[in-house]
Amino acid sequence: MICAIDATHDPNLQSWVESANEAQTDFPIQNLPFGVFQHSGGAETPRIGVAIGDQILDLAACYTLGLLKSLPEPVQVACAASSLNALMAMGRAASLPLRHHLSQLLQVGQDPVTVRQALVPMSKARLLLPAQIGDYTDFYASIFHATNVGKLFRPDNPLLPNYKYVPIAYHGRASSIVPSDTPIQRPCGQWKSANDPAPTFAPSRLLDYELEVGCFVSLGNELGQTVEIEHAEDHLFGLCLVNDWSARDIQAWEYQPLGPFLAKSFATTLSPWVVTLEALAPFRGTAFARPDQDPPPLPYLTSSINQEQGGITLTLDVFLSSAQMRQQDIPALHLSRSNFQQMYWTVAQMLTHHTSNGCNLRPGDLFASGTVSGVEPESAGSLLELTQRGTQPIHLPTGETRSFLEEGDEVTLRGYCKRQGYVQIGLGVCRGQVK
Ligand code: MN
Repeated sequence: MICAIDATHDPNLQSWVESANEAQTDFPIQNLPFGVFQHSGGAETPRIGVAIGDQILDLAACYTLGLLKSLPEPVQVACAASSLNALMAMGRAASLPLRHHLSQLLQVGQDPVTVRQALVPMSKARLLLPAQIGDYTDFYASIFHATNVGKLFRPDNPLLPNYKYVPIAYHGRASSIVPSDTPIQRPCGQWKSANDPAPTFAPSRLLDYELEVGCFVSLGNELGQTVEIEHAEDHLFGLCLVNDWSARDIQAWEYQPLGPFLAKSFATTLSPWVVTLEALAPFRGTAFARPDQDPPPLPYLTSSINQEQGGITLTLDVFLSSAQMRQQDIPALHLSRSNFQQMYWTVAQMLTHHTSNGCNLRPGDLFASGTVSGVEPESAGSLLELTQRGTQPIHLPTGETRSFLEEGDEVTLRGYCKRQGYVQIGLGVCRGQVK
């Protein structure tokens, strides 16, 4: 089922947390994304929080204060855990009533005296990974990205014949997923220049980012059991931003015949807040309109609901700042803007395809969409595309140029959903600096 619009999306709802009512916040009361945090400098165990304006509502504290008592006992216990996995495992039966309860606790009219004791300023918190991620799969769901990259490597044959039938993916590395603001070390690896007879092992010279959307699995499925497309969204918890850092020189040398490996597995950055599918309800719409000459998806990847409401209108932005720019107080440069609605495959199709061979997904597993690029050149979600493999460098306001990332470069991804008649919500920030 696609989540319905309800009272929690009412644009007139205001919170007694005043920063949540400001026009520019990513986290108004209509959003209520989940994350995991620790008090800065403290040694205490990580706890689940909900972002509200510039504050975090500490769910472990809510539990201790007895503020969750109207919820079923297992949901209360899951809220007091140190990762989101237990809550995710209960599916929408838990996340929907919890959302309604949190919306009530935080809205104007509610006496905030007790609830205020469970607030932590976001500036005093260290944001961690939202879940223990067992497995991580990275898709390749933008036909524009696949075509742009294909053109660079195979000018005559950019899009391989399977692309319009199979949601292509590779199995990524869960252990090297890091939260926003973790420094990124430039990887060493094998790469070979066109004119060299053999590869060298050296630091990558073509370090890149990839703008992606991540999707957390909620309800798992048993090994051997498939998830039909009509039920796919019952298995999805919510979305975050993902930077799939990529070493293009290592990738070019290693990717055939089995796909990416060390070019990707050195680091993947996640934004800390997971925006639930419930919160995204007002921003749903048609799936990407395939050109008439394209084949329809095979029946197991087709449903009328997915066609009509499987898309998510989510604007995505990439910013770059160099060390020099920050020294001179120059704001980060906007590199690109794209929209998640333009993906060739929906999140429901990705999940259904993933389980279609009987592969079991577990609560807290993550899949990412692949680089989100649009049809226009300025909507490309990687430097590989924006600079045409480094041949058309980007000019920074300091006079520096960039073909690929250099030491001290900081990449920031942002995303937000906007629709007439509703309050805008954001995904927060996914940020990382090359050290
Ligand atoms: Mn990727």
